Order: sequence, then structure tokens, then C-alpha cells
Amino acid sequence: MTLPAAITDAVARLTLPGLAVIDGALVEAASGAVFHNVSPRDGQVLNAVASCGQVDVDRAVASARAAFEDGRWRDLGPRQKKAILFRLAELMERDAEELALLESLDVGKPIRDARAVDIPLAINTCRWYAEALDKVYGEVGTSPVDRLSYAVHEPLGVIGAIVPWNFPLHMAMWKVAPALAMGNSVVLKPAEQSPLTALKLGELALEAGLPPGVLNVVPGLGATAGEALALSMDVDMIAFTGSGPVGRKLMEYSARSNLKRVSLELGGKSPQIVFADCPDLDAAAQAAAWGVFYNQGEVCTAASRLLVEASIKTDFVARVAAVARDMVPGDPLDPGTVFGAMVSERQMNTALDYIATADSQGARRVLGGQRVRRDSGGFYVEPTIFDRVEADSTLAREEVFGPVLGVMGFETEAEAFHLANDTVYGLAAGLWTSDINRALGGARKLKAGLVWVNGWDACDITMPFGGFKQSGFGRDRSLHALHKYADLKSVSVTLR
Ligand code: NAD
Repeated sequence: MTLPAAITDAVARLTLPGLAVIDGALVEAASGAVFHNVSPRDGQVLNAVASCGQVDVDRAVASARAAFEDGRWRDLGPRQKKAILFRLAELMERDAEELALLESLDVGKPIRDARAVDIPLAINTCRWYAEALDKVYGEVGTSPVDRLSYAVHEPLGVIGAIVPWNFPLHMAMWKVAPALAMGNSVVLKPAEQSPLTALKLGELALEAGLPPGVLNVVPGLGATAGEALALSMDVDMIAFTGSGPVGRKLMEYSARSNLKRVSLELGGKSPQIVFADCPDLDAAAQAAAWGVFYNQGEVCTAASRLLVEASIKTDFVARVAAVARDMVPGDPLDPGTVFGAMVSERQMNTALDYIATADSQGARRVLGGQRVRRDSGGFYVEPTIFDRVEADSTLAREEVFGPVLGVMGFETEAEAFHLANDTVYGLAAGLWTSDINRALGGARKLKAGLVWVNGWDACDITMPFGGFKQSGFGRDRSLHALHKYADLKSVSVTLR
């Protein structure tokens, strides 16, 4: 398949960002170190990117601290802050096609998703928090007549945002936008697999008029740049999305340094329950397939466990497989591709290992399971479905973060909710039923931060996003995210 000329020309014209954004300037790492940024589309090196270390992170944090303390951003009036964030959203819109191409090249996601989902949602998040920033109200307490007591939300100071590679710009915006809206300064550490759009965001923020030092971007490895940021004595909070093991380290780093606040969004093993009284089996089959295979399964809310009432299971699994069969892995830059490459060779091998384990543990492979498009040099795995997955098997318990669905049957409602909650995670859960009591009762019983009834992933920036149990704590999106980046100060004035 040859790509449309418009795409190949646009890719040829792209400038790939590779410099850190520190204190308002685009800079190399102080040591001159770089890391090679590989495109999963073809396994080729895209560019060399500054590999920030301790010195660079310290400079970025010092710059963010200076910007915060002199009030160049924090003390701007709400209208001025809004104008700059709106301008940033406009610039992202101006460069939307470039951002979409960078995202697709960097992480292998279909260009149609980058164009229709990632970039528009990141822009919307920026605008939404710009609009929200003067809707954060304090409280006036009930005080004795000779006292006035009130509580105000004050910015924390310097926020370290450590973000993943599955929705690079979108996840960065979920943290950067509310943190800036509350008046904080930010040091953003993109994942080493996906630095490009974060670096471009840093450049656009300067063009939009965000004062130097207010948003710094330090590309680099987790164990160097990420660790330096999380151990810094001058960072007030780490806002993180990524894996559980790194989440645990961040809490440890906090304890070992300055007890900085930590918010964690750590993924899950989300169940989607389909009862025999499901109001629309075709819609549920679409949701079951897209719920786990969208973005090659590299989604923290992926509906990776499908629980189906035994009486409809054979028919329903066939419907899901029929939807998934059309998700043929293809070149991410081809506008017709709906299913792209996995982010890295390592992530692909992880998914293939989980597939081999499920085979060896006796699950029945219904679809997929192979690496494909080897000739491209890229990292492609077919959508894969296993039926008869045992509740205690690896596939039922561990997050794959790849295109692998495990199906389990159940006989009773109680068994369905027991299976759904039988996990250390609690990010998302869903159920399909026509029974209002079962729907509302089920929404209460499911131990997850997000519950969808008769749909999947049906919510937006207005609703809080985050997990129960080992899926983490703290919320992205909604007005609640603003409070995460603020401290509450109580003031009492004695009247004389
Ligand atoms: P990861 O947790 O290692 O990386 C996420 C971010 O943390 C990256 O920016 C990385 O550089 C940084 N990081 C890594 N080690 C660090 C350290 N010691 N100190 C500070 N920062 C550090 O995730 P990964 O290795 O890229 O992916 C592995 C697994 O993580 C996936 O298989 C998946 O289960 C999970 N994951 C979850 C999400 C999510 O949305 N919840 C996103 C990406 C990955």
C-alpha cells in the first residue's frame, strides 16, 4: 500500500523536535547526551533527542521555582492567564496536522486516531482548563461575629509531570493544563518512547506567551531524568501516569526526599460484563472489541476482561471476533489504518509473551496471536482473543497493555460481580443490561473509579478520571483535577 502523497510530503517537511525546553530556551543536555528515538512503524531511528540528566533537571526545576516565586505567571490575573492558554490552544490547532503526524510516527498509532482523537482532545483540555481557571472558589466559614474566616486554594509551586507514551500529548495536557490553570510552574518529563509532541508543546507554549520557566520539558530516561525529578527537594508534587512498579518507586522517592505529594494513575485489568438481557448485542460487541483493541490495546482503561453470561457466550464471542477481524494491523500513516503498531519492540514482546503464557495455561485462542508485518521492520501484533480464561490465570490477573482479550463465562449476577472485582486494580468497569436495578445496583457494586453502563469509555473532560485500589489515586480531568494542584489555606482575621 503506497501512502497518499500529501502524507509523504508532510512527513518529509516535518522538523522533529529534539531539544529540551528549559528556562525559555531550546537546549541540548548539559552533558551532550542523546537517546535515539525509534519509530515503531518501521523500527527506524527518527531522531536523536536530548537525554536530560541530573544537571538539566536541576536547572529546569530551578527555573520553574524562580518563575513561581517571582509571580510572573502565578500572579497574573485570570483574564491574562486565560488569554495565554487560549492562545496555546489556538497554536496547537494551527499545528494540529503536524502534531498528529509526530504522534503517529513516534508511537505507531493510526494517523486517523491522532487526527480525530489525540490532538483534538488535547486542545479541548487546554481550552477547558483555561475556561475553568476562574471558577475555583474558596469558602467563607461560619465565624463568631468578631472574626472572618475563609479558605482559599493556593497553587502548590513546582509540579513534576511524568507521563506515558500511549497518549503522549493528551496525557501531558491532562496534567499540564490544570497545573498551569492553578498558577503552578511545571517540569514535564515525557516518556522516552514519545518525546516529540511534548517538546513541540514546550515550544508552542513559549510562542503563546507563557513566561519562560513556567513550562519546562525535560526529555530523558525514566531512571535518570524521571528519578532526578521525583527525588528533587524543590518539586512540590509529582503527577504520574504509567506502570505500577514506577508508581511505587515514586512514593518511595517522595518519602526519601521532601514528602512531595504524589498522584498516580496506574492502569488496570478492566472488566466489561455482558448479561443475557443486554439491550443491544451488536453495540456491546463493538464496545467489547474496540474497548480492548483501540490504540493497539495500549490503553489504561482497556476492557481486557470480558465477562459474558454463559447462555449467550458462544454467540457473543463470535460477534466480538467478527468486529476484531476487521482490525487488520496496517501502516499507522495510512489514513485507512484503524490498528497500528505497538509502541516498541519491548512492548510487542511483552504482549507476545502473555499470548504464549495464555496458550500454555490452557485458554482457547479464538483469534490472532501473531506478530505480523515483519517486513516493515515495525512492531505489529494482531488483535488476539482468548476464551475459557481461568480466573486465576496470568491473563485474568496481569495487565498486558497490548491487544489481548480474555473471555470468562458466568452463570449468576453474583458470580459476575465477584469476578469483576476479583483484581488488585480498579480503574474502569462496565456492564450491559436492560434491568435498571441491575444497572444501578451494579454501578454501586463495581469497585472502579469509572463505571460505564451500556457503553464503554462514554465520558469526557467534565468527569473525573482515576482509579480505586492499585490503579492509583488522585483524579485527572474535571474541576477536581484543579484541586489536586492546590493547597487549601485557612485564614482567620480577628476584627477589632
Ligand atoms: P513506565 O511506568 O516505566 O513509564 C512511564 C513514565 O515513567 C515514563 O515517562 C518513564 O520515563 C517514567 N519512569 C520510568 N522509570 C522511572 C523512575 N525510576 N523514576 C521516575 N520516572 C520513571 O511504563 P513503561 O515501561 O513505559 O510501560 C510499562 C507498563 O506500564 C505497561 O506495560 C503498562 O502496564 C504500564 N503503562 C500504563 C499506562 C497508563 O496509562 N496507566 C501508560 C503507559 C504504560
